[in-house]
Amino acid sequence: MAKGTDAKKVIELLNQARASELTAILQYMAQHYELDDADFGKLATLMKATAIEEMKHAEALAERILFLGGTPTSTPDGAAKKGQKIAEMLATDIGLETGAVRMYNESAVACAEARDQVSKDLFESLLAQEEAHLNAFQNTQDHIRQLGDSYLATLTGGGE
Ligand code: FE
Ligand code: FE
Repeated sequence: MAKGTDAKKVIELLNQARASELTAILQYMAQHYELDDADFGKLATLMKATAIEEMKHAEALAERILFLGGTPTSTPDGAAKKGQKIAEMLATDIGLETGAVRMYNESAVACAEARDQVSKDLFESLLAQEEAHLNAFQNTQDHIRQLGDSYLATLTGGGE
């Protein structure tokens, strides 16, 4: 790819993404602990699995940033919300994933414009996984809205 200004712009986009991944990791880990503590083990397991996927995203972004000669940020772009009810947690998570989907779509286009197809591919692969996260959270939110406490009861126990 073109070095100089284009690489700098791509590194900024990659670091912006990494900062959002770090926030998501903190958020989903916090929800994992809280849900596990409240014995909603099955939902806790979803949060843990999602947090681990976000960690892999943060790592993949760091590797690409280093390859391009940048420095991976270690600063999240937000703080994890604590003590939320389950419906509030899902609204928070849907907000994070919606933001990631929007950002990664735009970043993929910007990387193509900067003639960096490898970074573009990275954003597209992350994008597909963020869409799956968003779908899982939205499905859970829909079930709770439609079925209420009887659905929440199915999420208790279990977990890991
Ligand atoms: Fe992610
Ligand atoms: Fe995600």
